[in-house]
Amino acid sequence: MNRRVFLKGISAVGAASVVCGAGRLRAAAAKDRPNIVWIFSDDHAYQAIGTYGGRLQKLNPTPNIDKLASAGMRFDKSYVGNSICAPSRGTLLTGKHSHLHGMIANGPRFDQGQQTFPKLLQKAGYQTAMIGKIHLPGKMQGFDYWDVLPGQGDYYQPQFLGSKGNHMVPGYVSDIITDKSLGWLEADRDKSKPFMLMIHHKAPHRNWLPATRHVGKYEDVEIPEPDNLFDDYATRGVAAKKQTMTIARHLTHFSDLMLVTQQDRDAYAAKAKKAKAAGKKHPFTGGERGAYFRMTDQQRAAWDKIREPSNQKILAKGPKWLSTKEGIKWRYQRYMKDYLGAIAGVDDSVGRVLDYLKKTGMDKNTIVMYSSDQGFYLGEHGWFDKRFMYKESFRTPLIAKWPGVVKPGSTNTDLVQNIDWAETFLDIAGAPIPADMQGCSLVPLLKGKTPANWRKTLYYQYFGRGAHSVRAHEGVADKRYKLMRFMGRDIPKEGQWEFYDIKTDPGEMKNAYSAPEHAERIATMKIELQRLKKQYKVPPGVPG
Ligand code: CA
Repeated sequence: MNRRVFLKGISAVGAASVVCGAGRLRAAAAKDRPNIVWIFSDDHAYQAIGTYGGRLQKLNPTPNIDKLASAGMRFDKSYVGNSICAPSRGTLLTGKHSHLHGMIANGPRFDQGQQTFPKLLQKAGYQTAMIGKIHLPGKMQGFDYWDVLPGQGDYYQPQFLGSKGNHMVPGYVSDIITDKSLGWLEADRDKSKPFMLMIHHKAPHRNWLPATRHVGKYEDVEIPEPDNLFDDYATRGVAAKKQTMTIARHLTHFSDLMLVTQQDRDAYAAKAKKAKAAGKKHPFTGGERGAYFRMTDQQRAAWDKIREPSNQKILAKGPKWLSTKEGIKWRYQRYMKDYLGAIAGVDDSVGRVLDYLKKTGMDKNTIVMYSSDQGFYLGEHGWFDKRFMYKESFRTPLIAKWPGVVKPGSTNTDLVQNIDWAETFLDIAGAPIPADMQGCSLVPLLKGKTPANWRKTLYYQYFGRGAHSVRAHEGVADKRYKLMRFMGRDIPKEGQWEFYDIKTDPGEMKNAYSAPEHAERIATMKIELQRLKKQYKVPPGVPG
């Protein structure tokens, strides 16, 4: 970006806004610059992390991530700019909102040639490695070492694409990603350089498949339901009413709920026979529908041993039962057991990484951070999936341990967003931060010194493309209030607005857009939304 255009953008945003990272040049960093281990999962809701509290805390779903938090800082108001996988990953690499890095939805193209923080870290003398799920198309750039899952990746016997070519690895994906990461730390890195290692999990992305050792972890546990599992969307607009991501109606019996029937087995056997005749190994490769059949006979036997008794009971009730209130409650239970089971594998991974760093003494000079590409609905509003600016998917976990810098067990409640991550890594490395990145380094916050002019509002955009029929929307939020405008099919051209007071309505169940007592605030927030769009260089008509 032209610097003059950038500065013009700044003058337009007003004195109250945060201007950070704008062409700052830092002194050459010392030799003992810290290493960074960035552990990133896919769709990990903060509600499913013990340290964040909430209804699932008593299940103790993440003892190792909680341990990381107690040794570091937990960010309680951490959000994304667009709650969907590939766009969030584009933001992770570039420090920009989706409309600027170009990945506005999960799509076939991403400009890998553009400026990204790993390329800048390399220039600053860091070694960079990316292992696991990146979910951005195109040949990776900016990494000295990469070994990634193509596309969504598979839970069992996953394919990897890397410098050693395309290869399939037997086993369970989160364990394999961890093995590969520890292997790189131990043997493959250049030990004369500081490093940035990105450990990117596929889990707990749909279709939620735990490791065989975790299938039974929650089998006999009653998972607490959210209050709004049976939300009727009264007072909300078209978008909430017409999405297609309900637990009641949109989870598939076989590939989501893992209700495997003899018919499914026969269909697989027929396809497998046909594929074998054509010289192919897995008839379901490239998709998630056949995830269960990617298991080896031994893995499937371990899975079935736990699941067959309950599956037979449910299948005997017939498919109609699954649409009754009782059936929907069962769907929620099954969904959550698999989701939390997949998280158990990620948590094991975090534990192994922390143990390795401690054992080798590397922990003292290594920052470990944990986050996810967005949040997720765990039955809130009756939903699974993400995309909406309603809090459970808008928010994302963020935890950072930095020995000697971050106060152990501390929490931060400033508004932070995924546009901040790239600048944070560059700042940690003492590397120059380009003027066109759009976030703010979190380093001052990690040091417990939030700048006085830290941002007071967040901008959000969703482009309305892809699965689940979630309409395009944009919005602005501060720590208490949220204003959203929905657009698209069945919505008047001027859009449908929703407004929430999170303090009095934490579940975001009552759209208060028409409440007279909020009229003035809503008018102010509309102006703020336009100011943010100008600041972030959002073209007219975006994200409509
Ligand atoms: Ca995701």
